[in-house]
Amino acid sequence: MKLTRNIIIALILGLFTGIGFNLFAPELFQYADNYAFTPLGTLFINSITMLVVPLVLFSIILGTASVSDPKKLGRIGGKTVGFYLITTALALGIGLSMAFLIQPGAGGGFETETADYEAEEAPPIMDTLLNIIPENPVQAMADGEMLQIIAFAVLIGFALARLGDKTAGVLKLIEQGNEIMMFLVKIVMYLAPVGAFALIASAIGELGMSALQAMLLYMAAVILALLLHAVITYGSVIAFIAKRSPIEFVRKFFPAMIVAFSTSSSSAVLPVSMRVAQDDLRVSKPVSSFVQPLGSTINMDGTAIMQAVATVFIAQVYAQSLSFGDLLTVILTATLASIGTAGVPGVGMIMLAMVLTSVGLPVEGIALVLGVDRILDMLRTAVNITGDATCAVMVSESEEKREDDGEGAKAS
Ligand code: ASP
Repeated sequence: MKLTRNIIIALILGLFTGIGFNLFAPELFQYADNYAFTPLGTLFINSITMLVVPLVLFSIILGTASVSDPKKLGRIGGKTVGFYLITTALALGIGLSMAFLIQPGAGGGFETETADYEAEEAPPIMDTLLNIIPENPVQAMADGEMLQIIAFAVLIGFALARLGDKTAGVLKLIEQGNEIMMFLVKIVMYLAPVGAFALIASAIGELGMSALQAMLLYMAAVILALLLHAVITYGSVIAFIAKRSPIEFVRKFFPAMIVAFSTSSSSAVLPVSMRVAQDDLRVSKPVSSFVQPLGSTINMDGTAIMQAVATVFIAQVYAQSLSFGDLLTVILTATLASIGTAGVPGVGMIMLAMVLTSVGLPVEGIALVLGVDRILDMLRTAVNITGDATCAVMVSESEEKREDDGEGAKAS
């Protein structure tokens, strides 16, 4: 609780520091950023990112090993992937509706002549899926290829469950490795207020205020859609399916949301969000170990919302109309793009190029939204990981209920 309070204070201080530099000392900002904000922020991001690969590896091995029944594993996997796909499609629907309602690009006055954007090659979705089994697991870990690490860890966990007593020593070792990682997450979290302050001051200070003004409607549409999705979609799942209080969920998960907000990376925040889910939201360890790492790579509802609004915005600026078929194409490609988007800052923009191309819009349009993307990236990353945690709570509750029902049936 004390930590949450400190992180919130740091967030507010960072916000005011950034705005202060922007308004009163823009020329000093670069020095403060180069010598204080960016180094402190990098130190914090690196310290949590350092824990991601070992933590994901250990916790997924343990999660799989503890679920020796392959049927249960399949059931958890099915519910998780189903939840991720459905909520991403809903997020896109909400994003598109907000964009049509607010019409952020219809007012005109945007400079399209000089707009220039060098689109990076987005990884083809098929390659991402086919490469799930790593050729070399050590390489996968060195490169932080999350889906490959997950696949390798599931196989090891499965083997440990099957081999039982023969490999009890290795299982114990991995359990202890996991303990060590969780302990380190706790230590690194003490750095969170400093990290959050520095990262937020840096992001806000860097924002051009005039760019902000021109893009106000676009930002409003994205932010409104993010809020609606979090409140309506996640709120309903927590309240009606998991039968828990949404307010308590937010209160407990808040520290993870702020770390996501300041780092703009679902992947980096993973150790923190898993710890909060397991310790404070009472999500069972096997479920959290599966659902959250998988979500941090394939479930990006916030990113999908930005892509939906940006697509409509760019279509309006370039005066191109989007047919109903185009909108369905946007929903399909953006859902696939969300699977292929890595949980690191700014990748959503690279995948946006793919969505724009699918409906024949100019990729240069990205240059228009790029200026304010840093701040929106922070917000959508917080929504991305909240979706993963919502899914974890839902799956954990439903598995627990199944077990209770099963035991009840056995007892009677
Ligand atoms: N920064 C986002 C995340 O890590 C991805 C993106 O939208 O760029 O969740």
